[in-house]
Amino acid sequence: MLIKKAKIVKVNTIKLKKGDKVRVIAGKDKGQEGKILKVLPRRNAVIVERVNFVKKHMRARSVQEQGGIVEKEAPILISKVAIVCPKCNQTARVKYTTIESGAKVRVCSKCSEMIDE
Ligand SMILES: [Zn+2]
Repeated sequence: MLIKKAKIVKVNTIKLKKGDKVRVIAGKDKGQEGKILKVLPRRNAVIVERVNFVKKHMRARSVQEQGGIVEKEAPILISKVAIVCPKCNQTARVKYTTIESGAKVRVCSKCSEMIDE
């Protein structure tokens, strides 16, 4: 199999996107996996589905809305999560490569497959 040599472009932007599957690699939720619900670039953090739950005390604002303790996902630092490659199912680093059409795509550092379809 011929593997095209990936041209690495150095970027400081966040390489994770909403919908990416990630695994927590540090902290109390280590080992948990989930999809990214939101990327918070200014906080260098992401909100991951069902990960880093915190209890929040909510005040009832209306009759329909009950007060009490609500569990909600809190942001988790990007350095504490790693993307799980949809192709090889391993945690990997995201690399960028430019394909023939000139588009910049994300590839897995482990299997060199494209992460995005
Ligand atoms: Zn991979």
